[in-house]
Amino acid sequence: MGKSVKGKARVKKVSVGATWDSLMQANYGTPTISLIRGKGIEVWDTDGKKYLDLLGGIATNLLGHAHPEVSKAISIQSKSLSHISNFYAHPEGLALAQKLQEMTGDSSARIFFCNSGAEANEAALKASRMTGRKRIVAASGAFHGRTMGALSLTGQPAKRNPFKPLLPGIKHVPYGDVKALKRAVNRRTAMVILEPIMGEAGVVVPPSGYLKAAREICDSTGTLLVIDAVQTGMGRTGSWFGYEDEGIVPDMITVAKGLGGGLPLGAMIALGKSASLLTPGSHGTTFGGNPIAAAAALTVIEEIEARNYRSLNLVKGALIRNLVSPITGVVSVRGRGLLIGVVIKDSKAKEVAAGLLKAGFLVNAANESVIRLAPAFIISEKQIMAFVAAFNEVCEEIFHG
Ligand SMILES: *Cc1c(COP(=O)(O)O)cnc(C)c1O
Repeated sequence: MGKSVKGKARVKKVSVGATWDSLMQANYGTPTISLIRGKGIEVWDTDGKKYLDLLGGIATNLLGHAHPEVSKAISIQSKSLSHISNFYAHPEGLALAQKLQEMTGDSSARIFFCNSGAEANEAALKASRMTGRKRIVAASGAFHGRTMGALSLTGQPAKRNPFKPLLPGIKHVPYGDVKALKRAVNRRTAMVILEPIMGEAGVVVPPSGYLKAAREICDSTGTLLVIDAVQTGMGRTGSWFGYEDEGIVPDMITVAKGLGGGLPLGAMIALGKSASLLTPGSHGTTFGGNPIAAAAALTVIEEIEARNYRSLNLVKGALIRNLVSPITGVVSVRGRGLLIGVVIKDSKAKEVAAGLLKAGFLVNAANESVIRLAPAFIISEKQIMAFVAAFNEVCEEIFHG
């Protein structure tokens, strides 16, 4: 660590990784950089090195880092009321709930606030149990969170296996396969949960008509359809929740990640009859939807609306996909809007991600063969061009070098 470390004189001159390992549990990979500041989609590490952030806190910082309006909302709210529990109403929470209800286009929508994606899915799971049915169908490869209930929905054996037994009665079917879904769902199925695009699985886009078919299957068996919009939602993929293009109405929608614009916030939105499944005392949380997180979320949503980011994201996403597709070592590029998966040749995604980090760009290798991009909506064309040039250089080195 060099002289550029402001006010960090007491930090010993050892690597970030060594410090991390001496203090933190080993559930994450050991980071190689420590970040201290951000502005827009740029962040700086403790050595003063600048990075373009193409991951956005994992699809979370929708308006980038230190957005003036979001900081202002957080700051103002923190000076009047920061937390009061859900024993009391507060204007920010109600205004945000009203906004979310409007975003569904359905006045029957009722909101439950929580702090994360896993918690939003836990709420959906518990609501589904209130129907009296116990079986659930989810997709292989899907990610719905890491707590035991959400993990039971998650369709990734490597994440599940060490923690068995998980909840019984949950069946995973191939994603995008209507016939498999139809075979698995019956009158004892409480809910089907699906991501509009599977994010953690490597940005897997289903065939068009999949969610519509899922809706029909659920209707024919009286099963609830839950859309996990935690990653695809909040306008990232062109619509508020990622299912609207299919012309369906789900029974429940879960959101988190981008909702709080960087603050921890999640919501389970229930529509129609499912809006009354949770009854007094059946569920709750201490922090969920607290005034500061709600004030941040309101500002984020207002900005997305005012600047037309939902349609702009589609244009920017298409630009990135078109420019990255012809690069050496890129097999294909998939996704919608600003949720993009770049499939890399020879399972070298981690190598490409490491090369980009060195070159000053933050991306994520979702797995051995896919680089995931989920930048803030404010990313400019100039920043996109700079990223594409670096991507090209890194790939040239790896695949031609
Ligand atoms: C990240 C994610 C979750 C879990 O969210 P956490 O806030 O990490 O609990 C659930 N579902 C999807 C689709 C996600 O991408």
